[in-house]
Amino acid sequence: MEPVKCIGILTSGGDAPGMNAAIRAITRAAIYNGFKVKGIYRGYEGLINNEIKDFTTENVSNIIQRGGTILKTARSEEFRTPEGRKKAYENMRSHGINALVVIGGDGSLTGARAFAEEYDIPCIGLPGTIDNDLYGTDTTIGYDTAMNTIVECVDKIRDTATSHDRIFFVEVMGRDAGFLAQNSAIAAGAEAAIIPEDQTDVDQLEEFISRGCRKTKNSSIVIVSESKKDGGAMHYAERVKKEYPQYDVRVTILGHLQRGGSPSAADRILASRLGVASIDAILEGQRNVMMGIQNDQVVYVPFTKAIKNDKPINRDLIRVVDILSI
Ligand code: ATP
Repeated sequence: MEPVKCIGILTSGGDAPGMNAAIRAITRAAIYNGFKVKGIYRGYEGLINNEIKDFTTENVSNIIQRGGTILKTARSEEFRTPEGRKKAYENMRSHGINALVVIGGDGSLTGARAFAEEYDIPCIGLPGTIDNDLYGTDTTIGYDTAMNTIVECVDKIRDTATSHDRIFFVEVMGRDAGFLAQNSAIAAGAEAAIIPEDQTDVDQLEEFISRGCRKTKNSSIVIVSESKKDGGAMHYAERVKKEYPQYDVRVTILGHLQRGGSPSAADRILASRLGVASIDAILEGQRNVMMGIQNDQVVYVPFTKAIKNDKPINRDLIRVVDILSI
């Protein structure tokens, strides 16, 4: 394997607050250790289309506090094909890039793994997704900020819910993972969280109603994880309207505002630590690993583990919501 001299950085998949802090940390740590850095715009799509620029420390000045990603992000169908990945490899070679750091979610790291299997290029991943659904790290970059955003919104919804004695179903992001819903339900003092991880066990709506959601309270807030399987908050609201017409039901879908905003301190620290760790990993000759933090220690998680395993939700959290919602 040739020695690494130049590191390419890209952000891919859904954007997440803290990605800029990660780009800054990777760039600065790389330059600190004598590497050259190239910024690759628009994820894998930009790698295929040769949207690559030299990066210096100035490129990453004044971005730690900014949401989104200065490198832009994209989804790339072409990168899913061997021909697309070949183009990406050729562009990397022509720019002298011989190591790649990818900041993104599950799909982005799956792409990095496919690429690393075909070409002899060390690939390092940083978990950048608000969904927190990557195995091997306690949290992902963007998750804490998104959760804070949700809590801020639910606090506002609560004011109107209590004024009108209503049940609000608030839908939050998370894809197939319920971390955002479950933890924001605790933080916002919601009466229940409906999450995909619990779906096979019980009818969560039945349980919520039968617990006597409105015996002691005049209004309720239920946080619902977006889910392709059951149709999310709208589906539950429709059911309640049909089965319990006495309740005044409303739906709020928080949508993309959950992705925006200045990253929280926790996300900035996480991104900075993982960014520095990614360069340490390259210096140590690591490849095809995701950087993670477990119990406050940096860990290297093989892509195969980070992607393949379903990250389990802590069942204690479900119990906490139940107990505190009486
Ligand atoms: P988020 O969790 O925020 O949605 P993500 O990284 O999971 O982010 P995806 O859209 O799933 O987002 O993946 C991003 C990109 O990674 C895809 O557009 C594609 O280019 C690449 N990718 C995903 N899966 C594969 C695969 N199996 N092979 C090659 N590339 C892939």
